[in-house]
Amino acid sequence: MTTWNPVTGCLHSCVYCWARRYSRTLAKMGIEPYKTHDFKPAFAEWRLRQRFPKHDVVFVSSMGDMWGDWVPKEWIERVLHVARAKRDSIFFFLTKNPKRYHEFKHMFSSNMLLGATIETNRSYKVTYAPPPKERFEAMRDLDWKYKVVVIEPILDFDFEFVEWIREICPERIRIGYDNYGNRLPEPPLAKTMILKEELNRIAEVELGAIRKAWYE
Ligand code: SF4
Repeated sequence: MTTWNPVTGCLHSCVYCWARRYSRTLAKMGIEPYKTHDFKPAFAEWRLRQRFPKHDVVFVSSMGDMWGDWVPKEWIERVLHVARAKRDSIFFFLTKNPKRYHEFKHMFSSNMLLGATIETNRSYKVTYAPPPKERFEAMRDLDWKYKVVVIEPILDFDFEFVEWIREICPERIRIGYDNYGNRLPEPPLAKTMILKEELNRIAEVELGAIRKAWYE
């Protein structure tokens, strides 16, 4: 997988954000746009000319959320124009604000995977992103064949969560625990494994870091 960061930065302020920490390291190394903008929203226009290996999956904006409410429409349109033109690559978008996908539906093409991170069905105070229920509803109502749900870093949940995922009807699901020792309110491993079995009936489940909860 290749990463492509034409839009960087994020204002969701998740407590577990690794990208914010990594952007500080890149800023210290003098790398743009982090040197000038830190983790504030920025458009790295020169990256629109980036080349990608053929038939590769391109993860778009791993260093931010390009679908945040703060992102100008023009930035998103320019990124989508490039992705539409490169039909030899698959572009994987991921956001915690999937309601914005609905604004750009007319610009999507079959080489685009539209993903949403939904860590739980509960509302924990770990982020200023739209609440999980809003993300679920936006993904459920999104009429798109190639949808992905990312449950990472997983947070403790109720089994109603399975119904949410079923209603979204994703092509792929990813589950993983936090990788950075943030001591999040995560579920015990046995509960996660039951969730995985349930979700396997809905779509292909890819696993990230799977381990015991930090308190087990
Ligand atoms: S949505 Fe992603 S990039 Fe934005 S603060 Fe949360 S973890 Fe970081």
